[in-house]
Amino acid sequence: MTEQSSIAEQARALRDQLNQYAYQYYVMDQPTVPDHLYDEQYAKLVAIEAAHPELITPDSPTQRVGGLIQEGFQKVVHDVPLYSLNDVFNQEEIIAFDQRVKKALGDQVTYVCELKIDGLSISLKYQEGRFVQGATRGDGTIGEDITENLKTVRSIPMTLKEPLSIEVRGECFMPKSSFVKLNTEREAAGLDVFANPRNAAAGSLRNLDTSVTAKRNLDTFLYTLADFGPLEVSDQYTALAELQKIGFHTNPERRLCQNVEEIWAYIEEFHDKRSNLPYEIDGVVIKVNDFSQQEDLGFTIKAPRWATAYKFPPEEAQTYLEDIEWTVGRTGVVTPTAVMTPVRIAGSMVSRASLHNMDYIAMKDIRLQDQVILYKAGDIIPEISQVVLSQRPEDSQPYQAPTHCPECHSELVHLDEEVALRCINPKCPAQIKEGLAHFVSRNAMNIDGLGPRIINQMYSKHLVTDVADLYRLTEADLLTMDKVKEKSAQNLLQAIDASRENSLERLLFGLGIRHVGAKAAKILAVHFEEMERLMHATKEEIISLDTIGDTIADSLATYFANEEVHQLIDELKAAKVNLTYTGPKIQPAEVDSPFSGKTVVLTGKLSHYTRNEAKELIENLGGSVTGSVSKKTDLVIAGDDAGSKRTKAEQLGIPIWDEEQLKMTIEGGSSDED
Ligand code: AMP
Ligand code: ZN
Repeated sequence: MTEQSSIAEQARALRDQLNQYAYQYYVMDQPTVPDHLYDEQYAKLVAIEAAHPELITPDSPTQRVGGLIQEGFQKVVHDVPLYSLNDVFNQEEIIAFDQRVKKALGDQVTYVCELKIDGLSISLKYQEGRFVQGATRGDGTIGEDITENLKTVRSIPMTLKEPLSIEVRGECFMPKSSFVKLNTEREAAGLDVFANPRNAAAGSLRNLDTSVTAKRNLDTFLYTLADFGPLEVSDQYTALAELQKIGFHTNPERRLCQNVEEIWAYIEEFHDKRSNLPYEIDGVVIKVNDFSQQEDLGFTIKAPRWATAYKFPPEEAQTYLEDIEWTVGRTGVVTPTAVMTPVRIAGSMVSRASLHNMDYIAMKDIRLQDQVILYKAGDIIPEISQVVLSQRPEDSQPYQAPTHCPECHSELVHLDEEVALRCINPKCPAQIKEGLAHFVSRNAMNIDGLGPRIINQMYSKHLVTDVADLYRLTEADLLTMDKVKEKSAQNLLQAIDASRENSLERLLFGLGIRHVGAKAAKILAVHFEEMERLMHATKEEIISLDTIGDTIADSLATYFANEEVHQLIDELKAAKVNLTYTGPKIQPAEVDSPFSGKTVVLTGKLSHYTRNEAKELIENLGGSVTGSVSKKTDLVIAGDDAGSKRTKAEQLGIPIWDEEQLKMTIEGGSSDED
């Protein structure tokens, strides 16, 4: 054997071994080796593939980390449409379903019950055992090609145990634990959180950057084929076992049921177990087991006649309303939160729920000391659905809206037709502090180290009362605060100082002008270039800009009509804060870009941009740029003569781009739909 072929042999052996471990782990839910052993062998394979890229095969486990940035998704026409299911909500409707089935088929019918997984329908095509295409359901007939994203999902086999040409269908979902972890990370990074695992799974699967998908820990349960021909099975229950055998993850909780009583027992059992399952379900799917019987029943326009989906009622719990707390936001809007005796719903303890506004409270006639029914919207966000009127105390009084700001005690008002109550005192401490927090936040001036605790202290010590004060802080000032030592004071001053150079859009967004979000700020900055020009712009010129309408134009006019605002801008100017747009003249990208939420490292010499420009541009597209390569790095951009950072990135398997790719991404302004 030549040396080359023995290395190829080694790579193949490692690949097969690792794929077998992964099958045991992700598909059989039975890990056979400790993690570190897997990691060791994986590292060996990475090393071989790095030295011999020609040995990389599509089914190598190293190919699942993603890193491909796609331009969009192609449409896929499903040869066999993906069906939808008719819903039922109670036992009577299940009895009626059973009667319809038996009327057509006679009494000899066995059903199979499966959990209705709350994820996204996917369809996976295999040719001679190789994964060739994966698509979303779309409208059932036309979906989107998300092959590259699906390749990063570990439980989807790249090669089947048999060389079959089939199209397999099922559900892709995000396990609850991954969802919680992802949202915790996003919240800490100042990003929007996903409303529920389903949305998170959708955003991850349809991300143009497959390395994002790879990190999202998605899983799958497959449950059917577009055409069972090649499998030689004649019923759903056996088909599930067969799917598992050839390499797919199937849900283990399936059960054969002979009658409505057994179906109902299954439903009740999983209604109770639901909150303890590691993934979300929204019901139970009941299918006629026998395929020839399924065929006899056939389909309506939308759904099979041989199946139905029982939807769980939302989970609820009753508790006691202790208090309604009002908090003041940055824009002065005062919002109510229900404070309740802690109660368990859908697997977690809940004691607070937003009440949104006074109209909501009045509409539901929610009163202090009421017993209330709580549920989780989208299975996640606590909401009060109703009051238990029969348990209302006799001396109960309708809840009265507050008349004064809980922070500054000035009178609250309704602006225009708003339902919200507002504190319009520009000196309201709550608003000022929230405004400062917004000013320093990541998409605004991006000043690190100024958390709410420090802002609170700065404010109460009268060190900072508006954003211009930040630029007049001295080390001595900072040292008067708790827990601020020399080193951190210096770091803070440095961060503040660095923010002076920010391009105009960050300042514009940071000022917190009503309706002027990050995207509008960018559009305005690119067009007007100078704060001064924007301040004196006509309404016509402002609304001539794409996506900028009356609301924003009027809000800008109101803002800049204020004498105090002119003073503030003068003070910022005097403090040497940059008031011009310094980025390139480009169409601003959508907020979601291939850099969104990514940690990027720049290394080597760039020729199109200075380091600072590149940093700024990446940050404008939602990425953050750090100095050194670590496991947390998502992407390395290597210019000429890149040295050790590049090597390290290679070792860690982090995607590496050259400057051309960076330029294309920035200038193409590509976006995804996460
Ligand atoms: P619906 O979206 O309410 O019409 O319900 C139909 C959807 O349920 C299908 O498109 C599937 O995505 C989903 N589903 C989840 N689990 C299952 C299952 N075990 N069997 C069939 N469909 C399922
Ligand atoms: Zn106030």
